[in-house]
Amino acid sequence: MKRRTFLQTSTLLGASLGATAKAASSEPLIIATWKNEKATIAGWNKLMETGKALDGVEAGARIPEADPNDTSVGYGGYPDRDGHVTLDACIMDHVGNAGSVTFLEGIMHPISVARAVMEKTPHVMLSGAGALKFALDQGFKVENLLTESSKKAWEEWKKESKYEPVINIERHDTIGLLGIGKAGEIAGACTTSGLAFKMHGRVGDSPIIGGAVFCDDEVGGACATGLGEFVMKTLGSFLIVELMRQGMSPQKACEEAVMRIVKRYKYKEFQIGYLALNKKGEYGAYAIQKGFNYTITKNGKTQVIESASYM
Ligand code: ASP
Repeated sequence: MKRRTFLQTSTLLGASLGATAKAASSEPLIIATWKNEKATIAGWNKLMETGKALDGVEAGARIPEADPNDTSVGYGGYPDRDGHVTLDACIMDHVGNAGSVTFLEGIMHPISVARAVMEKTPHVMLSGAGALKFALDQGFKVENLLTESSKKAWEEWKKESKYEPVINIERHDTIGLLGIGKAGEIAGACTTSGLAFKMHGRVGDSPIIGGAVFCDDEVGGACATGLGEFVMKTLGSFLIVELMRQGMSPQKACEEAVMRIVKRYKYKEFQIGYLALNKKGEYGAYAIQKGFNYTITKNGKTQVIESASYM
């Protein structure tokens, strides 16, 4: 069931030296948490077609959402402890518009519902039954998102019912994406089924603007993955963008945001991974634990890069 194999031949170890990866200028690119080549390539292709970072990050997010083998996002996502697959997603554009959905059930593409919230309502966030009603009004269809294999995993989990998120394992594996469009504008997105076997009603950081995603076109963008409770309590993506505004590189800003968590919370047996991008096209990442990586597609080329980590 492990979705990621870390030691792929395309993996680079550059970021593990703690250096900010440098891009020549702010050329178009799509960057995403974890090893998610199909998503960044789909995002890149869309970006090449329309030119827009927002279209790119949405298209990228839709890939794991529709993948039954990705047990942390959309279709095939592990359910909560009551057997419901509940989804959180958000999206943000370069002029500060944002949309999100939380606790949404039965819709394959929550990222597109979040975009519709942003573009077609006066609100930022819709939740649960209200989000579902809005999605149906917008023409989205209800589907059963609980696959046989995710149901089996849940039934297996129920035998002991232990709540123990496993570091870097599929219980948290959210995709967060950032993109630079052809005009140099920055957008971000995030989508997840949240922690596996969470309490019914639990909402994580993934739909929280400033938590799992934040963009400010004067500065850059950031996104997060991992145990969302700690991202929410430190408003990680907002923090990273603000640190970059004060002059930090994306790499240093991610490190500082991780250190806020490390210093404040003694228990560290969990993973948080941050990924950030600035207006110059420089990017960086940092995590609490080893094993976090990210994927970038730029100039039509795709690389998986290992992140440096605190541990
Ligand atoms: N951050 C997500 C959550 O807490 C989990 C993940 O990153 O996979 O819901």
